Amino acid sequence: MDGATLKLIDKLEQQGGLTLDEYVNLIDWRDEDAAAELARRAVRIRKEIYGTDIYVRGLIEISNICKNDCYYCGIRRGNTGCDRYRLTPDEIMECVGEGYKLGFRTFVMQGGEDAWYTDDRLCGIINDIKERHPDCAVTLSLGERSAESYRRLRDAGADRYLLRHETADRAHYGRLHPADMSFEHRMECLTELKKLGYQTGCGFMVGSPYQTTACIAKDLRFIEEFKPHMCGIGPFIPHKGTPFRDMPTGTLELTCFLLSVIRLIHPRVLLPATTALGTIHPEGRELGILAGANVVMPNLSPAAVRNKYELYDNKLNTGCESAQHLEDLKKRMEAIGYHVLSVRGDAAGFINLR
Ligand code: SAM
Repeated sequence: MDGATLKLIDKLEQQGGLTLDEYVNLIDWRDEDAAAELARRAVRIRKEIYGTDIYVRGLIEISNICKNDCYYCGIRRGNTGCDRYRLTPDEIMECVGEGYKLGFRTFVMQGGEDAWYTDDRLCGIINDIKERHPDCAVTLSLGERSAESYRRLRDAGADRYLLRHETADRAHYGRLHPADMSFEHRMECLTELKKLGYQTGCGFMVGSPYQTTACIAKDLRFIEEFKPHMCGIGPFIPHKGTPFRDMPTGTLELTCFLLSVIRLIHPRVLLPATTALGTIHPEGRELGILAGANVVMPNLSPAAVRNKYELYDNKLNTGCESAQHLEDLKKRMEAIGYHVLSVRGDAAGFINLR
């Protein structure tokens, strides 16, 4: 690592941000020493806020039916090889009940943009979860909906919403999505979610097709300015049923580097070590935690549908990726000096103004 890189790391830690050019340089000039230095600082700053706590979320993949045709995604509308399913509200409640017994206190309902899930149906499910388990948080990750819909879901009790911005570069967005999807609308949704008082998560894929260092610099500037409570980043992994089937996979190395950068930008952010990271490397989750992540989201979906929510090839859903193996995950976290907690795990300092 040269002196100029060290100066950038110092500035990032002290000021919580860099200029676009500085981010480009930090990424382009990186080497093992720079990554180790960033990770050391990210871990230190995370420990000051969250100690050695790791928050877990029970992920319920409620539907792989989607009206969108994102070029990277295995559950895209145009993938005729995808075996479609949709969970009923009863099936979702069964997952929640099982997850509660296992110790989960946050449930994430994620799915494609499936119109069957009307506001009435979703509000019913959220009400049910909150009535049966008032000590739990509900996170939604159901894509772009109207402002009115977000308001109703929030009023019904939803606490958090994950909506990756995917890329902060308009032209890049246009290369990842068909023309009927809009960069502006995705960004408007994020603004709306935050305004409504959700703990809001944005994020992007590392190494997505056509992503340049300049695109990542824009993502980091966006994260600086938007100040998300959560940020989901994981490597892009190709899926055989998409136009990007032959594109290269994003790297573990750059993902971990960016996890450390994001931790330094927003020390309090909830930062998952994602399934995609666990998929490309057997110790991906641990390496993500050691780079500054503090959240893991094991899969709680019914076993019969788990391999149908295939966003990318070989998506992991066994072992520690499975909520039923929480004890194994706990042991693996203990082995690197961290502790999985059975709590809601809100963003530090978040005040719920409902
Ligand atoms: N439909 C909702 C949405 O758009 O936010 C939630 C589901 S969507 C499948 C969840 C995330 O999966 C996306 O935001 C995207 O970043 C990620 N994803 C999709 N395809 C992927 C791939 N091939 N590799 C890695 N991540 C992928």
